[in-house]
Amino acid sequence: ARKRDGKNGAQIFDPAILEKTRKRAEIEKDIDDAVTGGWFEAHFQPIVDLKAGPIIGFEALMRMRHPVKGMLLPAAIIEVAEENGTVGAIGNLILESAVANLARVSQEIGLMDAYVAVNLSPLQFECSLPTRLASLLGQYGIRPNRLVLEITEAVLMHDNPEVRRILNEIHSFGCRIALDDFGTGYSSLSYLSRFPVDIVKIDQSFIRSTEGGDEVGGKNRLLIEGITAISQKMNCKVIAEGVETAAQKDALHHMGVDCGQGYLFSKPLPIEDLHLLLGTSAARQSFAGTA
Ligand code: C2E
Ligand code: MG
Ligand code: MG
Ligand code: MG
Repeated sequence: ARKRDGKNGAQIFDPAILEKTRKRAEIEKDIDDAVTGGWFEAHFQPIVDLKAGPIIGFEALMRMRHPVKGMLLPAAIIEVAEENGTVGAIGNLILESAVANLARVSQEIGLMDAYVAVNLSPLQFECSLPTRLASLLGQYGIRPNRLVLEITEAVLMHDNPEVRRILNEIHSFGCRIALDDFGTGYSSLSYLSRFPVDIVKIDQSFIRSTEGGDEVGGKNRLLIEGITAISQKMNCKVIAEGVETAAQKDALHHMGVDCGQGYLFSKPLPIEDLHLLLGTSAARQSFAGTA
């Protein structure tokens, strides 16, 4: 596409920009309709202990059940929602759904120690967050250590004292903090000493980078081994994201990684399907991976 049509750089005539603006407006409308129509829901992906097998928790992942377009993934939505400020409202819906469904699964199936992990956008770090989390957990009778909050480097990067205060408050209340997508961006290990982090989640792109039989693959395996050892010394559990094959699972276990999450064990599931999966006691006790 041509960049400029007019002498004054009249970019509004650029078809690519027009298309982008139209797409964005469409997503904004979908978000509004979804909030009023109740189209947002959480899907749940099991997190598995690589040594012993059982499911230790679930990550709640946002989905939009669009009546015409079908199930939409966060990639199409979160960026726009962060730009126009609706991500807070969406985040609250997912948070409530996550805690409510954990309570339900606990009551109906057992699994009294399993946790639910919820992704938090940087915009959700308001001073009211700790109080709102506490009252949500109280309402559903869920122990605080059964809620994990997943944050990314974007939350920690600027070393904002307000963010630190909120994280410390949430942590001393008993909720756990997971550092998501580790291995992308700067991924400074000093986050582990500066913030109350309990869990490190190694990004799937980093996991993939260990697979080559060449020198690079070997060095990345050493990196994951080292990062895992340091995290564990700092009292953090390490979870590998995007585990798709039994070979990856075995290699990660060998590198010392504690837990795994990925299609090998299960895709993210709507709550009804999670119920079906957990209903089979075999899946609960030893989840060797069958996908
Ligand atoms: P994330 O938190 O890193 O979540 C993991 C993503 O990896 C999920 O994508 C999940 O479906 C995908 N995944 C899991 N196992 C595998 C695998 O074996 N192979 C592959 N190729 N992918 C796998 P999803 O659900 O599309 O979510 C994408 C991102 O959107 C999340 O990345 C998270 O950053 C964001 N997100 C999701 N839900 C929420 C939410 O409620 N609030 C906010 N703020 N962000 C959310
Ligand atoms: Mg996550
Ligand atoms: Mg992640
Ligand atoms: Mg990720």
